[in-house]
Amino acid sequence: MGRLHTAGGIRAIGKKYDFRTAKRLGQNFLTDLSVVDQIVESSEAGPRDLVIEIGPGMGVLTVQAARAAGKVAAIEVDAKLIPILRETLAPYANVTVIHEDVLKTDLPALIERERILPDGTSAEQVRILGNLPYYITTPILMKLLEDRVGVQSITIMVQKEVAMRIAAPPGSRTYGALSVAVQYFCEIDYVVTVPKEAFFPAPKVDSAVIHLRLRTKPPVELLSEKLFFECVKKGFGQRRKTLHNALTGICDLDKEATGKLLEVCGIDPIRRAETLSLEEFAALANRLAQPGLHIR
Ligand code: SAM
Repeated sequence: MGRLHTAGGIRAIGKKYDFRTAKRLGQNFLTDLSVVDQIVESSEAGPRDLVIEIGPGMGVLTVQAARAAGKVAAIEVDAKLIPILRETLAPYANVTVIHEDVLKTDLPALIERERILPDGTSAEQVRILGNLPYYITTPILMKLLEDRVGVQSITIMVQKEVAMRIAAPPGSRTYGALSVAVQYFCEIDYVVTVPKEAFFPAPKVDSAVIHLRLRTKPPVELLSEKLFFECVKKGFGQRRKTLHNALTGICDLDKEATGKLLEVCGIDPIRRAETLSLEEFAALANRLAQPGLHIR
């Protein structure tokens, strides 16, 4: 087996298995071992943990994760990579390769099935990591958060621009629905910027590693999470519009009632969603959720 973390090694393995990287599957493999180490280290995976890896590729990250964690379950969609992974990961008895589309995986069932460690005990923590396929970063992330699969952390490589959006504070140009959703569910650490040259083939843009710690308690108290996310979605649906215009129609409120809603929440109706904090979105949602407190 060639050296997994070099362009030459990746080419040699590709030749042996008649495998060519596919752009449509976001196959940009890591060739910088220091970045691989940084992902595994920042994931905080330890010997009592189950790690779920999304998109193992040829296994460069899987090998390091298998050394650090009690067990690794690696989910890869590309059938052509499965025999390659079987060879690269053969020395590691604590790795299971799962040939599936992560967006269709029943993660709670997978965790239930895989959480027994090689010593027969149950994993104490579950951590997710991966150098994500960029064409489906947001759906993967939202699935991991919304399914509430009971994981401690998510450590992922994403496009740098997506990492900036996720970590953006209210009022900044890149703050949006994704920032609010991730910040609601997680505490965020921006670990490191990774240049294009750290991959083979090199992507068009720079990347970044972020570490997300799932909150045990939400940062705002909500009467209805569903209404909170409706306010976020509607507010950012037309982000150039004032909140008064963007929110009109929510819960069937007409323009006047929407103005009243904003007024009772102490929010200037000419502001835009990109300036609202999580607390302000929560105030709107909680007001909308209160039975009997009619705004009209
Ligand atoms: N972990 C490897 C590395 O760092 O070199 C590969 C990372 S590469 C950016 C993304 C990987 O995700 C590819 O192996 C690709 O085949 C896989 N992938 C793409 N779509 C997927 C999906 N829907 N479910 C699971 N894996 C997927």
